[in-house]
Amino acid sequence: MSASLANPTLAAPTLAEGMAEIRATGTLTGLPRDHFIAGRWTPPASGARMDSADPGRGAPFAAFANGDAEDVDRAVTAARAAFTGAWGDASPAERGRVLQRMASLLRAEADRFALVECLDSGKRLSEAQGDVRGVIRAFEYYAGAADKLEGASLPLGRNYLGFTLDEPVGVCAQVIPWNYPLSTAARGIAPALAAGCAIVAKPAEQTPFTALMLAELATRAGLPDGALNVVTGTGARAGAPLVAHPGIHHITFTGSVPTGIRVMQAAAENVTRLVLELGGKSPLVVLADADLDIALEGVLEAIYENAGQICSAGSRLVLERPIADEFLARLVARVEKLRLGHGLDAVDVGPVNSALQLERIDAHVRRAEAAGNGILAGGGIVHPAGAEGGWFFAPTIVLARGLDDPIVTEEIFGPVLAVQIVGDLDEAIHVANATEFALVAGIYTASFDKAQRFARRVDAGQVYINEYFAGGIEVPFGGNRKSGFGREKGMEGLRSYCRTKSIVARLR
Ligand code: ADP
Repeated sequence: MSASLANPTLAAPTLAEGMAEIRATGTLTGLPRDHFIAGRWTPPASGARMDSADPGRGAPFAAFANGDAEDVDRAVTAARAAFTGAWGDASPAERGRVLQRMASLLRAEADRFALVECLDSGKRLSEAQGDVRGVIRAFEYYAGAADKLEGASLPLGRNYLGFTLDEPVGVCAQVIPWNYPLSTAARGIAPALAAGCAIVAKPAEQTPFTALMLAELATRAGLPDGALNVVTGTGARAGAPLVAHPGIHHITFTGSVPTGIRVMQAAAENVTRLVLELGGKSPLVVLADADLDIALEGVLEAIYENAGQICSAGSRLVLERPIADEFLARLVARVEKLRLGHGLDAVDVGPVNSALQLERIDAHVRRAEAAGNGILAGGGIVHPAGAEGGWFFAPTIVLARGLDDPIVTEEIFGPVLAVQIVGDLDEAIHVANATEFALVAGIYTASFDKAQRFARRVDAGQVYINEYFAGGIEVPFGGNRKSGFGREKGMEGLRSYCRTKSIVARLR
C-alpha cells in the first residue's frame, strides 16, 4: 500500500501523545487528505479541497477533498468492479474473516480513531471512545453473521424443489451525518460488507476523517480494492450525484427530513431502494412510581449526551404531575452544575458541531422565549473558560405551552429539553404520539403493566424501558412516519442489504 504514504497514518501512537499534539498544534499530523477509492488514496479530480473545523475551538484544523460527480463516478466504477470481481467471489466465511480482522485492527487503533472523532465532531473524548467500542462490536457482530444468512425451502410438494437465496443487493451508497460519523458509517458498512455488497460512502462535510480512516483500515484487513470507497465533500457536490447515480443499487441515508426527501426523490428516478433514518422528537416519560434517581440520570444522558445532537435523543420529557415539581427542581439543580468545554478536557457537555448548528439551536430557543415559554435552565450561547472560540449552547430546559408548540413539534438537534406535564399514563401516550416523528420512546416506571401498555401503544421504532438508549448493535433501529423507514442494526439490518431470489425446479 505505497499509496498510503501520501496520507500517512497518524504519527501520534498513544492517546497521551495525541492529546498533547492537539493541545500544542490544534491538529494531528497524518490525517487523510484525499478520497479513498479502489484501495488507494485518490486526490479529487477537480483539485478542490475544503477545511474541517474543531468545534471546541471554532477553528479549522485540516483540509480534505471537496469531491464532485467525477470522483463519485470513479468510486462507483471501483465498487462495481469489486462487486463483480474479488469481493463478489469471496465466500460468506471469507467475508466474515475480513470483518473480524477489521474489528481486531480497530481495537488496536481505537485511541487514534477516538481522538480524530473527538477533534472533528467536537464530542467528548470519552463519548468518542464509547463510539469506537460500539463500532468494534458492529464489526464483530456482522463478522459472525456473514455465514449465517440462510434462505428458506419452499413447501411445493414432492414434484418441485423450491428455495430462496439472499443475494447481496449490489453497490450501496452510505450517506453519513456529522453527529455520529464513525458509528453511523460502521452500522451501514459492516452489514453491507457481510452481505457481500460493495460500498461508496459519503461522510458529512463537517466530519470526513474517520470514515476515510476506516476504509484504509479495511484494506489492511484484507478487503479487496474497491469494496469500500469513501468520497468526501458537500451534500450538493458529492452527495447528490452519488444518490442519483444509476450504478447505485441501494441507499442508506441518515440525516435531516428535508435532505431525506430530496434523496428519496433522486432515488425514485432510478427506482433505487433505500433506508431513511431521519429525525426524531422522542418522548421520555417518567411516571410517578418510577425510581426517580435512575430516571434523573436517564434524562440527563438522553438529552445532553453529544450535546443533544442525536436523532434518538430524549428531547421531550413527559412528567406525571404528582412528581413534576420535585423532579424538575432536581433536574435543574443537576443541569446547572454541568461543565462545558472542549471535548478533550474532562467536561460533561461538549460543543455543538458547527456555527450553523449553534445558530439553529439559538433560533429555536429565542422563538420559544419570545412566545412566552418558561426557560428553567440554560437558554443561550455560552463561551466556557478555556474554550472561548468554540460553539457552545448551555444545557437548556424549556416548559412547553401545548401540543402544537414548536418546542415540542420541531427537532432542535441540540441540548434543549422540552417539558410536558400529564395527568396519567393514557395522557402520556397521547402526548408521546402527538408529533410527526416516531423514532424511539422511553419510559421510567416500576409497573410492568404500564411499561408494556406504553410500549404497545406508542408509535416508535424502538422503546426503552427504565434505561434510555438500552441495547446495542443486536437491536434493530429505525423510525416510522417522518422519522423514516427501514431498519439498521441487528439481523434485520443485514437483510436490508440482501434481495431475495426464489428458485423453483420441476422434478421428474
Ligand atoms: P444537516 O442539514 O444537519 O447538515 P443533512 O441531512 O443535510 O444534515 O446532511 C446529512 C448528510 O447528507 C451529509 O453527508 C450531507 O453532506 C448529505 N447531503 C446533503 N444534501 C444532500 C443531497 N441533496 N443529496 C445527498 N446527500 C446530501
